[in-house]
Amino acid sequence: MRETKDQRAARAEVVIDTLGAAMPEAKIELDHGTPWQLLVAVVLSAQSTDRRVNMVTPALHAALPGPEAFAGAAPAEVETHIKTLGLFRNKAKNLVALGKALLEQHGGAVPLSRAALAELPGVGNKTAGVVSMHIGGDRAFPVDTHVMRLGYRLAFTNHDQPDLIERDLQSLLPQEKWFLGHQLLVWHGRRVCHAQRPECHRCVVEAHCPKRGVKVKKKAATARPGSRAQQPPRPGRS
Ligand code: SF4
Repeated sequence: MRETKDQRAARAEVVIDTLGAAMPEAKIELDHGTPWQLLVAVVLSAQSTDRRVNMVTPALHAALPGPEAFAGAAPAEVETHIKTLGLFRNKAKNLVALGKALLEQHGGAVPLSRAALAELPGVGNKTAGVVSMHIGGDRAFPVDTHVMRLGYRLAFTNHDQPDLIERDLQSLLPQEKWFLGHQLLVWHGRRVCHAQRPECHRCVVEAHCPKRGVKVKKKAATARPGSRAQQPPRPGRS
């Protein structure tokens, strides 16, 4: 029988509550100490792992402490610190422009609102949502690759565009669970519900997941007596 919207919303709450109970340590994995450092880290994380970003940010912030220093730097200087990351040339250019925009438009402070953040150079809607919700701005349910994949497998959305997926997720969960819901889906996607070979057998929400699009491996058929599978390997074969 087709699941109603209310049933889906109830299931979504159970999934998030269950994940939260199983993984109370879930949090953003980009190291940062200030809103500016968080903004820089999220911008740098496009096409790069959080681990790689965390490897470069300490030296980057030591050399260029704050938006003013970035605004006065040449992109080539920023590049030297981030060249192990994907798209580093573009990111360096954007970070210099970002420092300038913050100085010119916001007095050097990172704006709280998602809309204002999304106006800044190199800051997309997802980055704006992640930063805003972490620094006490707007409530959001930003959609990255993990949230997109899990949202589909858990049948919380039928869409493939981040803004439409976010709208669906927001409609299923109360606002106070959006932040945690985002964190938990990302955390779970990295550790259990991998893009390739999700580990459903050790997933705490397996009972609530339709596993949409997940290929379930069939058990190997039991070999019949005398069949090829039961015969010893021929010489020369291993
Ligand atoms: S049951 Fe499998 S597909 Fe569903 S959330 Fe868990 S790991 Fe992902």
